[in-house]
Amino acid sequence: MGYAMTAEEQQQPKQPSSGSFTGLILILVGIFAGALLGLFYGETMWRAAHGPTKAVETLQKTLAQKEEFSQRETDAAAATDDPQAKAKFEKEAARLAAQAVKVDARLQEVQTIADDTEKQRAAGQLYVPETIWMLTEFCGDVFLQILKLLVIPLVITSMITGITSLGDIRKVGRVGVYAITYYFITTTIAVLIGLILVLVIQPGTKSDDTFAYQSESVSAKERGTPVEKLLEVVRGKPGDPGSGMFPANIFQAATSTNVLALIVFAIIFGSALTTIGEEGEIVIRFFKAANEAVMKMVHLVMMIAPVGIFGLVASNIAKNGGAAGFGEQMQRIGWYVAAVTIGLLLHAVVLMVIVWYFGNKNPIKYALGMARALLTAVSTASSSATLPITIECVEENNGVSPKAAGFVLPLGATINMDGTALYEAIAVIFIAQSLGIQLGVGELLVIFLTASLAAVGAAGVPEAGLFTMVIVLQAVGLPTEGVGIILAIDWFLDRLRTTVNVFGDSIGAAVVDNLVVSRA
Ligand code: ASP
Repeated sequence: MGYAMTAEEQQQPKQPSSGSFTGLILILVGIFAGALLGLFYGETMWRAAHGPTKAVETLQKTLAQKEEFSQRETDAAAATDDPQAKAKFEKEAARLAAQAVKVDARLQEVQTIADDTEKQRAAGQLYVPETIWMLTEFCGDVFLQILKLLVIPLVITSMITGITSLGDIRKVGRVGVYAITYYFITTTIAVLIGLILVLVIQPGTKSDDTFAYQSESVSAKERGTPVEKLLEVVRGKPGDPGSGMFPANIFQAATSTNVLALIVFAIIFGSALTTIGEEGEIVIRFFKAANEAVMKMVHLVMMIAPVGIFGLVASNIAKNGGAAGFGEQMQRIGWYVAAVTIGLLLHAVVLMVIVWYFGNKNPIKYALGMARALLTAVSTASSSATLPITIECVEENNGVSPKAAGFVLPLGATINMDGTALYEAIAVIFIAQSLGIQLGVGELLVIFLTASLAAVGAAGVPEAGLFTMVIVLQAVGLPTEGVGIILAIDWFLDRLRTTVNVFGDSIGAAVVDNLVVSRA
């Protein structure tokens, strides 16, 4: 089943069109220029964009949290009679109190920077960086908005076209079974890689959580048990008719970009269309034409991709404090970043072997064909926003049939997240290690299962995985405060794991195409 060139391919090797090659080069230039601007001018832009004032606010909250947590430990020490437990609580209280002193010192430093910056602003000295900041952010925002704009029409039309073009309802079932099996197997491999790496590298024993801060949005996710949250994925949130897999109102689901609900609806609607004979033909043709038109729009969007990607890269690096901000985070939790990055790279290699063996494709060519989608994933941190470009690359550069791509990719962008699953496993164990909590085999097993489920439950939007991780933490009884340790660097790891998510989806399309669709 491995890759074998057909006679036709040997005579006429497929070349990427010069247009798409130039497009790719321009995107690379956009990324490079964005990274340069972000790294060398990011700190100045950060100041111009009120970064220091925001940092002061976060540090103030961090300080308050440290004091509160330290007090909590002191109270717990006072309330217990067990001398061993008392000593443990007291030690933790002292550790947190010492951290509070460091946070306070940093707060004073950043407060001075914030005051100076505001003086410069009042004197009109920030006009240039402020304008550059606004323009880069504008370029990124417009590009991202246009991509998001296309997601709903694309998911609906490509899913219905994919399903109806398979014709026979039994074939839809086979494609579904193969796709889900593929998602399941690759997600399992990803979590396993994550578990092994985090246990071998032990990044948590080498980290510094002084500036860890638990944001309100993460604490808000604490409500409800893991089972409740998983049920919520299917039924939706009480009182929100647009949520869940079977929302009460499909238009509200579209308004809140509940892609999973639209997919479920499109699968059932498409399948029903194939069973009503001639009557259904006109609707099927309507969706096919609509799908082609949306894909043409995706083509147009690619023209502004280099500028949009440039804006996204530069503004994101700047928003996080430029090179200095990044360096600071790497010093604190560099080993954790390394473990996730190595894991993602290893998983990408596994995926390449899969596409070679089960997809009958040259893995290097396949990856190169996906380059534009992968680079878009890096800059948007959203599988859903990247979906239009993923579909384009899979079909046009890698020759996967729209029948397979139309089904596997929208579904994959929502539920198949190898990168997220791998990251969640590493992050949770990293948090346990940092807090000095030992995990047994049973707990590792629970992490293994819940990390896979939490990845399925994560939407294809930025930082979704960070929130669903709360499910995993709770399942093994770890404090959700732990998320604070990894919060500051998550914007960066999100980009890397989204890229692997998109790559995994694209390979699923090739595998299903080769094993089911093309063998009809
Ligand atoms: N941002 C990721 C995606 O869109 C999800 C996550 O946060 O892990 O694929």
